[in-house]
Amino acid sequence: MAVTLEKELLCKDFLTQQPKKLLIDGKWIPAESGKTFETKNPATDEVLAKVAEGDKVDIEKAVKAARQAFEKGPWRKMSAAARGRLLYKLADAIEEHAEEFAQLETLDNGKPIRESRHVDVPQTVETFRYYAGWATKLEGETLNVNDNFFNYTLREPVGVVGQIIPWNFPLLMAAWKFGPALATGNTVILKPAEQTPLTALRLGELICEVGFPDGVVNIVTGFGPNAAGEALATHMDVDKIAFTGEDKTGREIVKASTVNLKRVSLELGGKAPNIVFADADIDAAIKGAITGIFFNQGQVCCAGSRLFLERPIYDEFLSKLTHQANSLRQGPGLDEKTQIGPQVSKEQLDRILSYIDIAKKEGASLACGGERPAGELSRGYFVKPTIFKGVQNSMRIAQEEVFGPVLAVIPFTSAEDIAEQANKVTYGLSGAVWTKDIKKAHRLAAQIKAGTIWVNCYNVFDPAVPFGGYKMSGYGRELGKHAIELYTNIKSVWVNVAD
Ligand code: ADP
Repeated sequence: MAVTLEKELLCKDFLTQQPKKLLIDGKWIPAESGKTFETKNPATDEVLAKVAEGDKVDIEKAVKAARQAFEKGPWRKMSAAARGRLLYKLADAIEEHAEEFAQLETLDNGKPIRESRHVDVPQTVETFRYYAGWATKLEGETLNVNDNFFNYTLREPVGVVGQIIPWNFPLLMAAWKFGPALATGNTVILKPAEQTPLTALRLGELICEVGFPDGVVNIVTGFGPNAAGEALATHMDVDKIAFTGEDKTGREIVKASTVNLKRVSLELGGKAPNIVFADADIDAAIKGAITGIFFNQGQVCCAGSRLFLERPIYDEFLSKLTHQANSLRQGPGLDEKTQIGPQVSKEQLDRILSYIDIAKKEGASLACGGERPAGELSRGYFVKPTIFKGVQNSMRIAQEEVFGPVLAVIPFTSAEDIAEQANKVTYGLSGAVWTKDIKKAHRLAAQIKAGTIWVNCYNVFDPAVPFGGYKMSGYGRELGKHAIELYTNIKSVWVNVAD
């Protein structure tokens, strides 16, 4: 397949050193079992690298190393300023290798190189910088209590933290997890998704280079159920699990956590309502709808997968939207011109195709897409950008998370009951409203039960702004000062000062 990458392939060296190993206690070691698994290029179905298949015994080693580093290592004695400096150094090192990271992410995940370059990598850098600043801003408080006592609180790290991440933003999710956990002085074990382990491993190399003490960051690649992921979630000596992934897996994590009642934070799926009123800036809303569903091939937990259009604009909007969706340039992520790449895996491809079937059977009709592209692209896991019209909010295509480039378009007539329709779903991660009427926008922002609402925009993020779900989209907030809460404990100290 002819791919036009304008820059030299900088991740070649990293890819030639194989098989990839686990990072445990500052050393790169193979899995105890000697087993490896393959990670593939979703654009071509070719094997990119063999990666160590960590399992229960490897998690055991990693937890021991993290515990030792937390209790006894130099990490605990390090000043907050020094911890912050390490995070700044890491951010600088990633920035120096930005193009290499972007290429590696695109190869492993499939996403268009322009997205890796302009979203994943710079946001990763900014996340580490943001949390580097937090290291020196952690505070306790003094409290007004009975005169005979003096009371103050200490904000302490939780301890050994397990972090299980998905494959849709492999590097960025690692940054969302590492940033606040390390700024607050925890030690971590990261379990990257089996589909996309590479950028986390490259990040691990930079973590070692910039000088994080041994055992502070451990990375164990491998699988989830009955494997490394589950071993981490069930481990008695892990103090907290932070998980991003499917709600079904989230439930397993919660169950597993009961063995020692470890703290859990969950960022799960979504089925976001993207609501466009007739008085909106239509061109901007069309752009927002396209970004909302096709960014990252729709593999985004906050994807705007339910598009509610007010009746008067329904036909015009849908026809322009379909035209734009049809003209998105689909191809391998590494091609500079690609706007929409392949899905991450064969499994995801099959899941999406099965949802397309379900939608058809439910009576929704295709406005565009609905199939795999022919020709050269049929080697990879591509699905054409797909839009269903004539959807009812109760259909499975409007209720279940497809996690692909599949949009359900639903007309609405009454501004009064749109919030109710928007909320008639088990998820509550995000939503958007497009209107020029500021009152309507704020009213809906308050009514929609979701952790993020975008008004006249979509998919806007900043490390300072909290992100997380209502309802079955999980609990806990990542990013911002809220993630500091996830990774710290508050201790209150009573001192008897009575005469
Ligand atoms: P998907 O099905 O889209 O791959 P998952 O929620 O299954 O999403 O995966 C997200 C992450 O959770 C991955 O790192 C995966 O290995 C891990 N995982 C899956 N099942 C479990 C489990 N039972 N316990 C712990 N981790 C798991």
